[in-house]
Amino acid sequence: MLKSKNFQVIGISMVLCLVYILWIAPLNPIQTANLKVIDAFFYLSSKFNPLPKAGQDVVLITVDDYSLREIGTGWPWPRSMIARIIKKISANGPAAICVDFVFAGRSMNPHEDSALTDVFKGAGNVYAAAFFGSDGKYVVPDETLALGMKDFGFVNKPRDIDNTIRRMRPYFLSQSGEIIDYSLSLKIAGSIMNILPGNIGTSIPLAKDGTTYIKFFGGLDKFSSIPAWKVLNDAADLSPLKNKLVFFGVTSESFHDIYHTPLGMMPGMVIDLNETLTYINKSFFRYASHEVNSIILFVFVLIAVFGGLRLSILSGIALTACEILILLSLGLFLFLNEIIIDPFGPILLMLVSTILLHGTRYVVLIVENIVLRKEAVTDGLTGLYLYRYFELQLKRELEKAFRIHKNLALVIYDIDHFKKINDTYGHEFGNLVLKAIAKNLKDHSRKNNIIARYGGEEFCIIVSGMKRDHAIKYAERLRNLISLLEFKTDKGEIVRVKMSAGIVNVEDAPSKSATDFIKSADLALYKSKNGGRDRISVFSKS
Ligand code: GH3
Ligand code: MG
Ligand code: MG
Repeated sequence: MLKSKNFQVIGISMVLCLVYILWIAPLNPIQTANLKVIDAFFYLSSKFNPLPKAGQDVVLITVDDYSLREIGTGWPWPRSMIARIIKKISANGPAAICVDFVFAGRSMNPHEDSALTDVFKGAGNVYAAAFFGSDGKYVVPDETLALGMKDFGFVNKPRDIDNTIRRMRPYFLSQSGEIIDYSLSLKIAGSIMNILPGNIGTSIPLAKDGTTYIKFFGGLDKFSSIPAWKVLNDAADLSPLKNKLVFFGVTSESFHDIYHTPLGMMPGMVIDLNETLTYINKSFFRYASHEVNSIILFVFVLIAVFGGLRLSILSGIALTACEILILLSLGLFLFLNEIIIDPFGPILLMLVSTILLHGTRYVVLIVENIVLRKEAVTDGLTGLYLYRYFELQLKRELEKAFRIHKNLALVIYDIDHFKKINDTYGHEFGNLVLKAIAKNLKDHSRKNNIIARYGGEEFCIIVSGMKRDHAIKYAERLRNLISLLEFKTDKGEIVRVKMSAGIVNVEDAPSKSATDFIKSADLALYKSKNGGRDRISVFSKS
């Protein structure tokens, strides 16, 4: 049978998981944190995974800073110049040429367009970019140019909430659910693999929003590249382009075509290249289902909560640290096997439950300590300070009074004929009287006055900061106040009590010793008792 403590572990874990799933997980910072942990998996896996074979069959023709400077012609370059570059590429027999430009609209000079169309036609394997504008309009190459191309496809990629590109979209759907077009990278991959884009597109495991992760194999530096100016000026050996997949596009930062990716900043063309390689390698990520994520969350949190409730603080923290390491290893292992889990939720909840549970235990411990310490100096019946504490405080106050000439007095009260009250009405009744007197003394004293239970039915007050006469008046006022209290017995009888008091002021102290000071107040009290009780006597040296 499960013990109640185990129920507590399960209960707390369930509540934490539910709160997380329902309210915390959808928050933007949490989603971003999740993505950042997955980015770490991306980064680590890029260290483990070598560039796939298809990656070695890619050459980038880059419109980089050098090309813009060397060629000197203002941007955009004339289409005839782009045509000359493509012609030189094509002459070396590449498998396909992906031009990451959108040739929308016509040039002022028709010759420019016809030169490009001729080159496209001559090459027979040129693909160009298109894109869906923010207004939803599909911006495609000019019709005459498009006719010369093998095909064109869109280059849009969804941005995550942190503005980073991690995912690709194989095809865009119209409102009615028809496929409008396939992405440029999917079309190029299809041409290289000799498969229709539609056949690849529909076999990819997609998330509900129609996207899947791009498998980032590397940044610009991972691939062989030739600056466009060298191609134009015949300054590079282009024979390695044979049978290669050629990407031609901008890599210069001045085009603002540089985006955040899990592997750092990357030009759009290199992102397209990674996307294309993802298709060619047919290695797609799958998102772990909601159920799998929830089970992982619950199991890890359950163990952390167990550690929080059942283990010592150090063991609990060690257990959570081990769990986080195991979870991260599991996340990375699954990632390498192309499954993406939500790794941040379990980490957060494990940390929260460990801090919360051990934290509360620590706070309870501190509070218990405070209570214990207070109990050690206060009297259980009246809540007043005990004699030992009073004695310590008196020594401190007296020393201070002598040092800085501060006023200080000590009053001792003793209830008159209290034994008789006990004997007549019972010990319990006597206790009630003691409690009530203590409460009244406390309620009508200043906060800085220390009130203690001196003996059985004796109370003393350290009165600080009051002149001699004021202190006497104050002590007398309290005595009067107590004498006016009415106590009702079980039988409805009204009982009143009187007190005798003795007071000593620091000016009359026989010495600097606290013992002598107390003795002096005691002497004054005896004087009151001997003088007939129900009065206050002031100690004087003479
Ligand atoms: P007086 O001081 O006027 O000389 O007479 P008294 O009867 O008050 O003096 P005495 O010191 O002889 O008796 C004190 C009594 O206080 C004895 C004891 O029963 C009672 N007492 C001491 N502590 C407690 C307590 O905690 N509860 C109750 N109910 N009585 C207590
Ligand atoms: Mg007494
Ligand atoms: Mg008494």
